[in-house]
This record gives sequence, C-alpha cells and structure tokens, in this order.
Amino acid sequence: MPDRYAVIGHPIAHSKSPQIHTWFAEATGQDMVYEAIDGGAEPGGFEQALHAFARHGGRGMNVTLPFKLQALAAADVASDDARAAGAANALRWHEGRLEAQNFDGVGLVRDIEVNLGQPLRGKAVLVLGAGGATRGALLPLARAGVARLAVLNRTASKAVALLDELAANLPPALALHSGGTDLLPGLPAFDVVINATSASLSADAPAVPPQAFAPGGLAYDMVYGKGLTPFLRLAQSAPNVRVADGVGMLVEQAAEAFAWWRGVRPQTDDVLKRLTVPLA
Ligand code: NDP
Repeated sequence: MPDRYAVIGHPIAHSKSPQIHTWFAEATGQDMVYEAIDGGAEPGGFEQALHAFARHGGRGMNVTLPFKLQALAAADVASDDARAAGAANALRWHEGRLEAQNFDGVGLVRDIEVNLGQPLRGKAVLVLGAGGATRGALLPLARAGVARLAVLNRTASKAVALLDELAANLPPALALHSGGTDLLPGLPAFDVVINATSASLSADAPAVPPQAFAPGGLAYDMVYGKGLTPFLRLAQSAPNVRVADGVGMLVEQAAEAFAWWRGVRPQTDDVLKRLTVPLA
C-alpha cells in the first residue's frame, strides 16, 4: 500500500499541490499517493477531515486557506517558523504526535536566492502587507541575513503590531521599519521588494513609488498565475528591476514539505518549468 498524503483547504479544486507532489514522487521513486481534500465550510469540518485522514493511514498533509491557523492549533508540536507565523502549512504524523511546520517563508527565500539568483545577505528588503504571508516570511528573511527589513502595509497599525510582536525573534543588528506605505518616499530604495498583499487578486497594487525599487533589484509578487500584475508593472516602470511571481515559492515550499515527509529533497527545476507561465 502506498503511503497517503493530501492537501486540505476550502475550496481546493484549484490546488496545484497534487500535481506537484505526484511529479516529485515519480522523480524520486517514492511509493505514495497524494490527494486533495475539501475541509468544507462547516465549523469542525477541518478537524473531522484531519482525524479521518489519520485513521485511514494518512502520513502528512499540506494545509491551505482557510485552515492554516486551525492546523497549528491541532498540532502537538510546532516549528519556530510555524509558531512565528501563527499558522501551519504542513503537517505530519510522526512517532505518535502531530507535528506542524510552515514552509512558506523558507520557500520564498529559496526561490529568491536559488531560482532567481538574488542573494539576500546584507540586502535591504521591503515586504508589503501585514497578513499571514508576511508573518510567515519575516523569520526566514532574517535568517537569510538581510541587513534592512521594512514591513509596510495599507493599514499602518497592522504592520507596526506585527513587527512589534516578532521583533524579539529577529537579530538585534537588523534595521527595521514598520508602518504605512506612505513612509516610502522618506526611505532609501530596496534591493528586493516583495508584494505579500492580496492586492493582485483584485487587479490592484499597493502604493509604491518607483523610487522604492533599487536599480538592479528584484520585485517579487507572491501571487502566481495572474501574469504581469499591476504591482509588477509598477516595478517595471523603475529602471533595471527584474520581476517574478510566486510560483517558485509554491514549488519550493512543496519541496520542503516533501523532504520533511520522505527524507529526500526533490529537484524543483523541472516542476518549476512545467508550471511557469511567461509573465509578459
Ligand atoms: P491576508 O488576507 O492575510 O493579508 C492581506 C494583506 O493584503 C493585508 O495586509 C491587506 O492590507 C493587504 N491588501 C489587500 N488588498 C490590498 C490592496 N488593494 N492594496 C493594498 N494592500 C492590500 O493574505 P495573506 O497574507 O494570506 O496572502 C497574501 C498573498 O500572498 C495572497 O495573494 C496569497 O495568494 C499569496 N501567497 C502566496 C503563496 C505562494 O506560495 N506563492 C503562499 C502564501 C500566500 P490591510 O491590512 O490594509 O487590509
């Protein structure tokens, strides 16, 4: 019997995770099956589906919206990144315990540094947004050695509260800014600007002046499958800025989860090539 894995969310039909993990399993010769489970909209639906999956031999799960908070709450133990994010995107049953991880931030850093060839050590990084995606990205960005980190949001108070909460977990030498995007004209340019807002989903962009993008830098939209988003178009109006969407982050967090479950890290290049849609 192959080992069972799944992604759980609501809705879930759009998820690329079953395809990605099936490709990983084929490439690494792992005997496993991977399915999509809809946790439904009813209260308690996630927990019921989780326990039913475990009873039927489930070994691990990816978790997507809207269950990432509940996944953390359901776990017996959680990684530092999952606790800092306040959310889990991967679970495994291991030695009788349910363990939680959050690989979104690690996936983001790996995509930027390895796939896109943009080193982060010593760089100035701006993260736009103060929701779950930003929360999950901050510790991994700090571990990558960024020198200056700004978290700016449409609602300034949310960015300030988020950084206040996480500051104790960040290196003291890291220069931090938080507040509204209206601070941007007063700040030096950033080598990497990450759009961690959901603005692109409604064909909108956070308010960023072109001067915020340092020449030779990278503009990264966590959203994927939307082509050249208004944020990426805005970045292109600055001189010599490369643009990327979040498909690599998706694939890299999947590879991290796969390695955590199976003990073998799949190559991501081929999967990334198959999923990448040209931006222009
Ligand atoms: P949340 O709903 O938790 O947060 C949304 C954030 O976006 C808030 O800070 C909100 O600001 C801001 N925002 C929304 N609309 C606008 C707008 N029109 N202009 C400016 N700011 C806006 O979302 P998440 O943090 O969970 O996700 C953010 C994005 O990241 C999503 O689009 C998601 O698809 C993507 N993502 C991609 C992943 C990947 O693997 N590539 C993984 C995880 C997330 P305010 O506080 O003012 O409301």
